[in-house]
Amino acid sequence: MAKLTILGSAAAVPDMDHENVYMVLEGKKSALLIDCAGSPLARLRAAGVDLDKLGSLIVTHHHPDHIYGVPSLLLGLRMHGRRALFDIFGTRENLAVIWGIMDLLGWQKWPNPFPTGRHEVKMTEGALVIDSDEFEVRATPTEHSLPSIGLRIVSKATGGVVAYSSDTSPCDAFVRLAQGADILIHESTGDYVGHSTGTQAGAVAGHCGARKLVLIHYPIDADLKALRWEAEKEFGGPVDLAEDFAVYVF
Ligand SMILES: [Zn+2]
Repeated sequence: MAKLTILGSAAAVPDMDHENVYMVLEGKKSALLIDCAGSPLARLRAAGVDLDKLGSLIVTHHHPDHIYGVPSLLLGLRMHGRRALFDIFGTRENLAVIWGIMDLLGWQKWPNPFPTGRHEVKMTEGALVIDSDEFEVRATPTEHSLPSIGLRIVSKATGGVVAYSSDTSPCDAFVRLAQGADILIHESTGDYVGHSTGTQAGAVAGHCGARKLVLIHYPIDADLKALRWEAEKEFGGPVDLAEDFAVYVF
């Protein structure tokens, strides 16, 4: 089994029904968080994720809407009684920002500590991030206003592939990374530098040969029907608009 649950779907401005973008992948034995916004403990519990299975977090870049939930996550796991190692993966800049925030918060002195692993993701195409019993995750630098990575996640149980663009302009390196994805999760912020429109996300899905496109990181006040239609027209395959708590099995 491999399951992806969207925990948040909105671009930088969230609302009551759409937290900022993050998601969780679950296998039989392990779970992996990608980016960390919103209220992670509440959302993970509401999504039915066993917190003892959650062993790692990959941060795609350090814009606040992708990382502001990290202190809450780490505090919540302590309160939950975690003792096992928790691994955090990100680029050198991402890790420096996260550790800087946590140091400002004095987390070394918090009660009930558990060990954390700090793992730098190389900014090279197809860099191996995680190779576990259940998942292989690779990353590629994308085109954003900060160092950012797109991800390709392969379930070793099913062979299914999910690719996630994070924030980026249309990017050839990400198209190569996401080739043949069963589910392509692509941002659709709009016509801004370092971001993509619905049409561009649709084109990327076509270039990747993706089986399904899921639009995410969209402005909640946009014309969402039009956004989806633009992507569908360009892609020609099935397009979903990500919703919080949507589940994809792959
Ligand atoms: Zn960003």
